Amino acid sequence: MMKIQCAECGRSFIWSDDMPLQGKCPEQDCEWRYDVQEEMKKAAEKKAQAMQKDLVLCPHCQKPLNSRWTLCPHCGDVVVGRLSFSRKHLFILGLTVLVILSLIYRFWS
Ligand SMILES: [Zn+2]
Ligand SMILES: [Zn+2]
Repeated sequence: MMKIQCAECGRSFIWSDDMPLQGKCPEQDCEWRYDVQEEMKKAAEKKAQAMQKDLVLCPHCQKPLNSRWTLCPHCGDVVVGRLSFSRKHLFILGLTVLVILSLIYRFWS
């Protein structure tokens, strides 16, 4: 079973296993001929494209990741959404936060 959309009249129909692999569009006044193997190839390509869209790439090394919030296993960067930080940056960021916190602490006490 497969859904095929006619390239000429735009109607879609269901191809079932007992139908020939190549044949005419079921619409009476449409002469388009389908080729199930072609259609299957197209469907597989579409699926592959859709999967690639979902793929998360490391913003730093462009290699695939398992999630958007992760440590890149390829280059070691910390990935947050579309951004990546090297661990050195993160260390500096952490230090800055600590300094600011200690300043606030001093200011309040
Ligand atoms: Zn047709
Ligand atoms: Zn990476």
